[in-house]
Amino acid sequence: MKVFKFGGTSLGEPEIFRKLPELFGGQGRVVVVLSAISGTTDKLISINDQLRKGNVAEAKDLIMEMERFYSSFIYRMFDWTPVYNEARLFIETRFLKLIGLIDKPFARDVENEILAQGELLSSGLLRCLLKSKNEKFMYLYAPDYLEINDEGQPDVKKLGMKLKEVLNQNPDNDVFITQGFICRNSRGKIDTLGRGGSDFTASLIGAALVVEEIQIWTDVDGVHNNDPRLVEETRSVPELSYEEADELAYFGAKVLHPSCVFPAKRMNIPIRIKNTLNPGAPGTLVHEARKGSTIKAVAVKDGITAIRIRSARMLNAYGFLKKVFEIFEHYKTPIDMISTSEVSVSLTIDNNTSLKEIVSELRELGAVETDEDQTIVCVVGDFMAEKPGVVRMVLNALKEIPVRMISYGGSMNNVSLLLHERDKIRAINALHHQLFLNREIHVN
Ligand code: ASP
Ligand code: MG
Repeated sequence: MKVFKFGGTSLGEPEIFRKLPELFGGQGRVVVVLSAISGTTDKLISINDQLRKGNVAEAKDLIMEMERFYSSFIYRMFDWTPVYNEARLFIETRFLKLIGLIDKPFARDVENEILAQGELLSSGLLRCLLKSKNEKFMYLYAPDYLEINDEGQPDVKKLGMKLKEVLNQNPDNDVFITQGFICRNSRGKIDTLGRGGSDFTASLIGAALVVEEIQIWTDVDGVHNNDPRLVEETRSVPELSYEEADELAYFGAKVLHPSCVFPAKRMNIPIRIKNTLNPGAPGTLVHEARKGSTIKAVAVKDGITAIRIRSARMLNAYGFLKKVFEIFEHYKTPIDMISTSEVSVSLTIDNNTSLKEIVSELRELGAVETDEDQTIVCVVGDFMAEKPGVVRMVLNALKEIPVRMISYGGSMNNVSLLLHERDKIRAINALHHQLFLNREIHVN
């Protein structure tokens, strides 16, 4: 059994969407998890933003705009009249529902229900498509089997039990289609797993059913060894360990959602990242990789703020860092990189929402300086085998670029460097040449 997850861009054009059954058909038993068609969740968020401001008319305009998009989408997707009519009726019903939602008093539950419409639309269209092909399949409504608690954590046990029950009761059925991202919360209301959460759904289902493989279908040939938009001659990485994939998912590789790796890793299930636009390409396989491989990829994360706290009270003192961390904890702000000296500590955050409050509390502990517009450049790989040379090569590549912080040794899978955003492109190109093309370039 396998899980196939299709992202928004795999559904974004009717011509591509129509071909999806060729990708998961004939593969034995499969669960097909769909995201919303690309752009849809963003639109639903804008509708919510308007409703929050009380702009019901603007929200309605956005819904009409969306409905026009979907009308033309199905017109291009279904050329056989009876199926087209069925899809038309389906779309009309969904948009009536959406219009009905905006008339309700705006509250968290309404917001979530609006957000859920994207995945309901895409999975409903797949249902029409499979019916038109006379394929045998079952449609599963995600909130029936995926529940989260008050912390947003999924109930993995219940998920496994419910899904296994459905599978056992339908032994002759091979194809199960469902929605990513949406679920039910502890109050019994529709909720979501957060942006990009469909990968997480796929991984949770794969782990619960202990499938042979989870395939994440996207619009690139797997994870690239550097950002192809900013660096020439990048290529896709054939395999990654779970740890390497974890690091890359956080550092903006954007191909995998950060929480997607954990469930698969726990059950040792391979994740294969494939390209819907180029299905023949091998993509990237994330699995329990052999040790002894080398540097795999460079990834970056922008929008980082560095905070340095200097205090003579740190000297030979214990408990100082605890006080620092408590402030971040209080403001629910995760810390990414840390680097300490005897009398100061530097750390980075990627969420500035409470920066002012955090800094003002930190000032009670010592002198505080902040630097915004920083970038974390992260070199990912398995450094056990190459240990003696990695840091030297990285620093050698960056010898002409000011580096604000370095972090190495937190895991054997990454070297992270903090630099100013304006130096990012130079830095990742220099690293690319040094680490993957074995050529040095002059970076000035
Ligand atoms: N549709 C949701 C989003 O855009 C979930 C996903 O695509 O993974 O965030
Ligand atoms: Mg995604």
